Amino acid sequence: MADQCIFCGIIAREVPGDIVYEDEHVVAFRDINPQAPVHLLIVPRRHIPALADASADDTELLGRILQAANALADKFGLKQSGYRVVTNCGKDSGQVVYHLHFHLLGGKPLGPFA
Ligand code: AMP
Repeated sequence: MADQCIFCGIIAREVPGDIVYEDEHVVAFRDINPQAPVHLLIVPRRHIPALADASADDTELLGRILQAANALADKFGLKQSGYRVVTNCGKDSGQVVYHLHFHLLGGKPLGPFA
């Protein structure tokens, strides 16, 4: 757990968060400022600042996160309509929280993005 990391705080249940899924490796909770009817954040329990910091040892963990995204898309009714999974990495992406997270968005047509 990294000091001052808001997502580590949510994972540890020291900070309020609307957790919708958790297992040994992965936690998912609702984004506090949703950009779509369904907007979840899927994160590793272990503090990894950004995708660029993931190593070869994290290959299985990254797969688990994407499989959790698929399962959550199904659970939240997005399987037929479709969904977007995106991660921001670094300054130019607009990453704000430096604990690796994947946004799962859906529930409306999302349109293109830059
Ligand atoms: P990013 O720009 O990819 O770093 O996105 C960070 C996301 O975290 C944003 O969509 C925020 O709305 C979301 N966020 C920030 N603080 C919280 C929080 N305490 N609980 C849930 N989501 C949060």
